[in-house]
Amino acid sequence: MKLFAFAIDDGTVFDEKVIDIFNRYGIKATFNLNSGLQDYVWFKDWLEVRRIKLEEKKGIYDGHEVASHSLTHPYLTSLSDEDIRREVEEDINNLKSVFHCDIKTFSFPFDGYDERSIGIIKSLGITHIILPCIDDSFRYPDDAYHIKATSWDIDDALCKVQRFIEDGEAELFVYLSHSYDYEYGDSYAKLEELCRIVRGRQDIKIINVKDI
Ligand SMILES: [Zn+2]
Repeated sequence: MKLFAFAIDDGTVFDEKVIDIFNRYGIKATFNLNSGLQDYVWFKDWLEVRRIKLEEKKGIYDGHEVASHSLTHPYLTSLSDEDIRREVEEDINNLKSVFHCDIKTFSFPFDGYDERSIGIIKSLGITHIILPCIDDSFRYPDDAYHIKATSWDIDDALCKVQRFIEDGEAELFVYLSHSYDYEYGDSYAKLEELCRIVRGRQDIKIINVKDI
């Protein structure tokens, strides 16, 4: 059986639309949230990107995996050990108190990671870490603390999923994206197409990142 995981970073207001699609296809995804940025607003060109207010909207994540993406989305590798611990531990504790569930997965903010930060994150009870880099070999990672994304982009994912289907040796596809990408690119229909393709295969099992 091949495994496929959908993961969404940042917890923006567009998660609601993406979850609508996932729910229609019976897909359980992993949402990597920053509990300390709920009032943060930025613009991707013309698009205003707001964060989800977790207490108000927590119900939308029902049935999906909630995971940590750090408290305030810093470059962890530039922080002291103590600050890394605070960024991860406070986020985990906040998410636990909102969602009343275990937090097992962590997704690195931005594009920096190192073994020092991985070690600290591990020590806080995280069992699965998504690194900010691509590996499209469709192989399992060496261990669950070094999971890499297969794709970050919907057009790229739609191409790669065909290779994934045809490759008899393929094991794992991790599709990591942001919900604002679909709003910005008006590409919800493409996400839906990917869901339809993956959901329609008997040989692909959709899993949460914590189950890799
Ligand atoms: Zn992020």
